[in-house]
Amino acid sequence: MLRYNLVEPRRLVQEEVPMPVPGPGEALIAVKAVGICGSDIHAYYGEHPYISCPIVPGHEFAGVVTQVGDGVDEAWLGKRVTALPSLVCGKCHNCRTDRFNICENLKVIGCQSDGALAEFVKAPADKLFLLPEDMSWEMAALVEPLAVAVHAVRIAGDIVGQRVVVYGGGTIGLLVMQVAKAYGAKTVILSEPDAFRRELGLKLGADHVIDPSSVPPHKWLRDKFGSEGIDLAFECVGIEATVQQGILSNRKGTTIVIVGVFSKPVMVDMGLVQDRELRLLGTLMYTKTDFTEAMDLLKEGRIQGLPLITHRLDFAKSQTAFDIIEQEKGKCVKLMINATK
Ligand SMILES: [Zn+2]
Ligand SMILES: [Zn+2]
Repeated sequence: MLRYNLVEPRRLVQEEVPMPVPGPGEALIAVKAVGICGSDIHAYYGEHPYISCPIVPGHEFAGVVTQVGDGVDEAWLGKRVTALPSLVCGKCHNCRTDRFNICENLKVIGCQSDGALAEFVKAPADKLFLLPEDMSWEMAALVEPLAVAVHAVRIAGDIVGQRVVVYGGGTIGLLVMQVAKAYGAKTVILSEPDAFRRELGLKLGADHVIDPSSVPPHKWLRDKFGSEGIDLAFECVGIEATVQQGILSNRKGTTIVIVGVFSKPVMVDMGLVQDRELRLLGTLMYTKTDFTEAMDLLKEGRIQGLPLITHRLDFAKSQTAFDIIEQEKGKCVKLMINATK
């Protein structure tokens, strides 16, 4: 089969390799669609803190089960599925308490194990999700990033009636924004330097957008809503400035959920975190409940996924994916790779 291996940063190589064989408890999936994620982009540049080369990227995907390993129900054969890409130990404290997203021994398909930028990918059968008949491959590949957003919003607690700021209008930020609205946030403000992404944010339901390159968000937010105006923030970039903006803007005693992936340690004003009794709350991936919820939100049309897919590529052209993302900058939100017909 063909696959694309990121053998070293900035070098994605097409390889012909033997077909993978599903082991006990595993299924083999013929990949129909795979999304390129911010994490894959970090990895491509050698800037992801937990992904090293060589790696076949791709953790948000959908396809057809073509083979099953020992102990897996054969009823899965031929089924259209997506998979929760976490490979977990099942034994550590967090696995035992329903939080396998923070398993002590976590590996993720496409991050620390062969991913879905390939004709076939293996996944644990207990992490497969059957697709509704009318869900397209592309939509199914969006369940994974949406589950990230669902988890981030759920971890923040009850957000009904709240005024929420989302820092960063990439795929995750735009999904967090929509989930926050779907869960009852009163006002959602998106802070994003790219004009195309701000526009998309407005189309997807943002009540206000801020361009942080023209006005400091904390100034804009405090002018508009006062020092007590912001109930909750989601940092969806992974840089110093956006954490600091959250710290400066939130009302005392509130939470800043850290969703972004940081390529290096950052300096923020911890004195204000202490003095204002702020909570910096990390969030990683999702549990099964979040994944199921993401599937339901898409199925019920409560979240718009398709407008996020700004670019599409045929699998055979995968090598150009990261060049396109680099050239298009903010105009490329989600690049989706579809199987060669
Ligand atoms: Zn991802
Ligand atoms: Zn574990």
